[in-house]
Amino acid sequence: MRTIDRRTILKAGAALAVTGLTGGCASSPAGRGTFTRGLPARDEFVVRDATVLTMDPAIGDLARADVHVREGSIVAVGPRIAASGASAIDGRGMICMPGFIDTHWHLWTSICRALINADDPKRGYFPVTNALGRHYTPADSYCSVRLGLAEALSAGATTVHNWAHNIRSPEHAHAELRAMRDMGVRGRLAYGTPQGLPDEQSMDLKGLEKVKREWMPGNGNEDGMLTLGICSRNVGDSTNLLRGNISVAMARTDWGGARALGLPITMHTSGPSPIKLLDNAKLLGPDVQLVHPLLTTAEERHIMRERGVSYSTSPTGESRRPASAGVIQLGELLDAGVKVSLSIDNTSSYAADYFQCMRIAYNLHQHRIGARIPLTCKRMVQLATLDGAVDLGIADRTGSLTPGKRADLILVRTGDINMAPMADPYTALVSFAQPTNIDTVVVDGRILRRGGAFTTLDYAEVLNQAAECARSLAEKAKWV
Ligand SMILES: [Zn+2]
Repeated sequence: MRTIDRRTILKAGAALAVTGLTGGCASSPAGRGTFTRGLPARDEFVVRDATVLTMDPAIGDLARADVHVREGSIVAVGPRIAASGASAIDGRGMICMPGFIDTHWHLWTSICRALINADDPKRGYFPVTNALGRHYTPADSYCSVRLGLAEALSAGATTVHNWAHNIRSPEHAHAELRAMRDMGVRGRLAYGTPQGLPDEQSMDLKGLEKVKREWMPGNGNEDGMLTLGICSRNVGDSTNLLRGNISVAMARTDWGGARALGLPITMHTSGPSPIKLLDNAKLLGPDVQLVHPLLTTAEERHIMRERGVSYSTSPTGESRRPASAGVIQLGELLDAGVKVSLSIDNTSSYAADYFQCMRIAYNLHQHRIGARIPLTCKRMVQLATLDGAVDLGIADRTGSLTPGKRADLILVRTGDINMAPMADPYTALVSFAQPTNIDTVVVDGRILRRGGAFTTLDYAEVLNQAAECARSLAEKAKWV
């Protein structure tokens, strides 16, 4: 049996054609076929002797077991799997678990990290992204999404819901989808309106239909990795006009256009809760995901459960908001039977760290209502994996280590200084782990990271292009 060695993978990756942007971000074309890069092949391999947390209730946790992957699928999970001809990955001293599933991330803002200052409100996330967002070319979108996804993969995210509320043309959507495809992640593009669009103007439904037709005439793209939806401007929220505030009538137009194409909808609820307003308008359904559950009432949580609406919470950012914005209602939502998932929101203000994300949500829950509503570390890991797949409607293909599902998994080292000696693996993940403990990241059977490094991606090139885009955008926006 061969053993997969990181140097072997790097050597193989170096032979792959890698074509990046040329000529600077401002002038680079972003049409289909412009950007291509090699991804590692979907080899057959077996992870041997790991602590396997399947997140599949029928299989459970296995203290020492193997995971066999072939042609991008999980074919077997259990002890001492016979798999002649398959390469071996030594899983001793590792947790093998599903990759994280991020259900709300504005990847287009990733490059704005270069300009944001947390201590200066004028240089905060919203003013910077709104000012620069109006100048984005498709190439800027491409570079920013790639930068964000490089961080996503290094943090163990294998699926990302790309909440793209700056689609300035169908070409911007193409660029974001191409970046997702080139980086090898699974995900959904939520097609949104451009920054600065008047509230009285509907979203570009013709552009949406065009992108749907060209990229995914069925329910997804050809290999099922990418799907499409829309992200809506806020309804009934005048607290942050930089992101729009549309009427119920406009929501009917935008949401109706998406539904006519069979596409799901996502929307922020950062200000006063719009749930009753939306329900009275008969707009809520199982194809709706809301984001930031901070100010819901018991009645609204009942409505969400009845309508099948899901909620994505972003604990890292939400815990920085003032008390007047509400509290993270994770326990209340779970208690009411509402579907919940976790997200990072953006990485221009926070690092992509799902361990920290789980830790903040868990800590705040225990601090506030833990004595009344029990919450376990295992449930936190479920929220960050399987429940994210349920939220995005892709639990038939990812979210757990179940034979027949696609192979989206990570290996987390348990012998590192912040992890050892390990007792309960879920306690270790929620209380101690950091992204630097992630050794291996596999998406759809492709080994994208091994030994804590990218196998084929030229990260320096990704970073250089992103930094150049940020510089160019700052110049165009006269941002000093
Ligand atoms: Zn958001």
